[in-house]
This record gives sequence, C-alpha cells and structure tokens, in this order.
Amino acid sequence: MASRDVDVDVECRSCDATGLYLGSADPEGVATVCSSCKGTGGVTITCRPFRGRRACEGVDGVLPSHGVGNSMTYEEFLLKYTPLTR
Ligand SMILES: [Zn+2]
Repeated sequence: MASRDVDVDVECRSCDATGLYLGSADPEGVATVCSSCKGTGGVTITCRPFRGRRACEGVDGVLPSHGVGNSMTYEEFLLKYTPLTR
C-alpha cells in the first residue's frame, strides 16, 4: 500500500449495511449472511484521497475525451479543466 493510500470503513452496498442478504430463493422471513461483508455490515476500502491535481510532466499537447472537441496545449488544458473542489 502506497503511503498516500488510506483505509476507510464504508457501508456494504450488497446488503445495505445489514449484514444480511435477502434473496428471492430464501423462505419468507429468512435471510442469508452477506458474503460480501461476512455479516459485519461494513467493508474496508483502500483509497487515495484527492489532495489536488498534480502536474503531468512532459506533456505538450492534450486530446479531448472520446475524440470530441479540439486538441489543446497543456496550458490550455490547465485553464479549461479546473481541478476538483468541494
Ligand atoms: Zn454486506
């Protein structure tokens, strides 16, 4: 794990943090222990929190996503695409 990575405990999406999976094959009122979170209701993900857009060395030209639009210089990219903020 890189030093910028952090572990975060999040709700299990498979069971909506209940630890139980309600399957259509189970009898009425019976649930199965969620295999994604092993019944804990949560899972740990490893992510790298965004701390600002880093420079991309050695790039002169930038092509648009999916080929839609005009190519631009790296300086034009920096002005047009503002970094993610909250
Ligand atoms: Zn779960």
